[in-house]
Amino acid sequence: MKEEIPGIHHVTAIAGDPQQNLNFYAGTLGLRLVKRTINFDDPSTYHFYYGDEAGTPGTILTFFPWPGVRRGRAGTGQATSVAFSIPESSLGFWIERLTKHNVEYEKPARRFDEGVLAFRDKDGLMLELITDKSSAERRRGWERGSVPPKHAIRGIHSVTMCVDGYEHTAKLLTETMGFRQTGEEESVFRFAAGEGGAGAQVNVRCAPDFWPGVVAGGSVHHVAWRARDDAAQRAWREQIAATGLNVTPVLDRQYFRSIYFREPGGVLFEIATDPPGFTIDEPLEQLGAELKLPSWLEPNRKEIESILPQLDHPQNELEQES
Ligand code: ZN
Repeated sequence: MKEEIPGIHHVTAIAGDPQQNLNFYAGTLGLRLVKRTINFDDPSTYHFYYGDEAGTPGTILTFFPWPGVRRGRAGTGQATSVAFSIPESSLGFWIERLTKHNVEYEKPARRFDEGVLAFRDKDGLMLELITDKSSAERRRGWERGSVPPKHAIRGIHSVTMCVDGYEHTAKLLTETMGFRQTGEEESVFRFAAGEGGAGAQVNVRCAPDFWPGVVAGGSVHHVAWRARDDAAQRAWREQIAATGLNVTPVLDRQYFRSIYFREPGGVLFEIATDPPGFTIDEPLEQLGAELKLPSWLEPNRKEIESILPQLDHPQNELEQES
């Protein structure tokens, strides 16, 4: 049985100050904080999940905010930028909004026949807003956040990886993971999974002379691809292990189950199940409102809460600006 990867599940990056991260992604960018939990591997620090109303796979960007973390360095063996989809007519709105929020951006450009507005978050993570007609029609984004619904970010558009051994990464993507190459521009190769388009594509930049990246503050920690269910994930685990790569056992991440492996270019990949999703421990309307802990850490809630930094505005219902 050959499984298909429907697209990106989520991207996880490293931030510094949690409040600053929340202000930027829920405030400036208008994403919904769909889950406020802790890093299961380091319960004294937060793990934030942002996305559309429900945190639909393909809209989720997550952060480990580590106060005082040293800054990473962009380079090979890394995902170097995360792109979001916006409606074609929203570019002007976003230029004005970034200006108003004192976010510096690069001159709007065109790539793969789409408009690209590039800027960085407060920790230096490279982000892009990409004008994308299909996604604006298909996805709604978070409609009760700080950005008017017609201009809201629709979800993740793509991720760009930078590798020096481009051929090995391409081989894994196409021969094992079922991607197909859909474009090439300068030294960037675009691959699509499943139905392709926004949320189901990755750009691989071939940069043999670039220095190796350092994953720390302001860099992507890993890129997670979707598995429709546990059976699909088990099949992926076998197929990837058969190529000789080391794959972790299935890990329970509460909102999905995960396997991890490093692709040949050095980027940490995850395959995460669509179920059960973020409503497993709080109702849709309440997502992100409270600190959620996995059941095995619930007995330590008081202690954990006393260590975590206090946050203002943990809710999503920020006043809408026009
Ligand atoms: Zn992940």
